[in-house]
Amino acid sequence: MITLDIEQKIILGTVRKIVQETIRPRAAEIDDRAEFPWDTVRVFSENGVLAPLLPEPYGGIGLPYLTFSMVLEEIAKACASSALILIAQADGMLPILCAGSESLKERVLPPLAKGRLAAFAATEPGAGSDILSMNTRAVRRGDAYVLNGQKCFITNGSIADVVTVYAFTDPEKRSKGITAFAVEKGTPGFLYGKNENKMGMRGCVNSQLFFEDMEIPAENVIGEEGKGIGSMMAALDTSRLFSASQAVGLAQGAIDEAVAYARGRVQFGQPIADMQAIQFMIADMAAGTEAARLLTYQAACRLDRKEKKFGPLSCAMAKFFASDNAMKVTTDAVQVMGGYGYMKDYPVERMMRDAKLIQIYTGTNQIMRLVTARGIFRN
Ligand SMILES: Cc1cc2nc3c(=O)[nH]c(=O)nc-3n(C[C@H](O)[C@H](O)[C@H](O)COP(=O)(O)OP(=O)(O)OC[C@H]3O[C@@H](n4cnc5c(N)ncnc54)[C@H](O)[C@@H]3O)c2cc1C
Repeated sequence: MITLDIEQKIILGTVRKIVQETIRPRAAEIDDRAEFPWDTVRVFSENGVLAPLLPEPYGGIGLPYLTFSMVLEEIAKACASSALILIAQADGMLPILCAGSESLKERVLPPLAKGRLAAFAATEPGAGSDILSMNTRAVRRGDAYVLNGQKCFITNGSIADVVTVYAFTDPEKRSKGITAFAVEKGTPGFLYGKNENKMGMRGCVNSQLFFEDMEIPAENVIGEEGKGIGSMMAALDTSRLFSASQAVGLAQGAIDEAVAYARGRVQFGQPIADMQAIQFMIADMAAGTEAARLLTYQAACRLDRKEKKFGPLSCAMAKFFASDNAMKVTTDAVQVMGGYGYMKDYPVERMMRDAKLIQIYTGTNQIMRLVTARGIFRN
């Protein structure tokens, strides 16, 4: 089992305080109003957890993946949307950190620890699971690239200060023709469409982005031309770990609610917690969540150890297992609470809606099973 060191304990203590004071009291409200919680972003930033994976020279605290995974879990116990803000921030930032030039990193990364936001933009209307069907094109013109195309569903999209955008510079070369760009807010030709009206994770912004003859200086290319697929796949691997962590937290939050309710709800002269039918549901919910947590921590440790062979496989497995578990657990939490669970007076109906998204994004759970199976047969 994992033993926390003193630094991890301090960080998790800080996060629990933020959750109690800022995140939990606002969770139902931001869901109801579909309101982006700028106050939470400010508190994350003031406490050094808005971009904690960034190494210290860029203004972060250089957290390992395992600790970040635990941070996301703590936040998602109370509000999965608030955890998703940090996930989108990390998704947009990591390709720049891992593959960007030093001057690009020095310019765009430090503000991300101080209240600015990032986003990761790969998906298009015609290119979801089949990402090589992207239509966004970038053409070199002198010291710049001209981008035309569109992206959809992008988390933090219209509020991000920097967006990691993937485009084909040479579509004939398929995966070897993709290039990544750091696109800054305010760039001429960078336009916003609608922010989506969603079933769950309503405290997050998900946007359509349009690029119309948008000129991006060559210094904003992340890595080399034609090498974008590497940073895209690496970002998706880590994002799957983050989604798994979010799912574990969400499931645990639902269990905590259901257990507290079951203790207090009396029917037929006894607390429903004393009924075996309820106890068996809670036992299954707890066992599934503990298993998901261990798979997730295992994936995080493998990424921290830079295990190329098993890291991505572990992330995909953790993602589909933890999010399928979160969907089941949150649905069962509603069942344990009967009619009250279905009402907006309790958080479990929100948790159930939030859980659904985790089965879909950063690669659907069908695609996660494909990635896992391919990894098994390749290894
Ligand atoms: C709220 C939200 C936030 C998002 N945030 C971002 C973001 O920040 N950045 C970003 O780039 N993208 C983002 N996405 C996009 C997300 O990653 C995609 O929605 C996801 O990858 C699925 O793509 P799709 O929706 O086009 O579904 P499709 O690819 O059309 O899939 C439809 C169905 O077909 C199944 N399917 C497809 N191909 C196969 C196959 N080969 N084998 C078996 N089944 C298959 C899928 O599993 C699914 O059930 C977000 C999406 C949502 C909904």
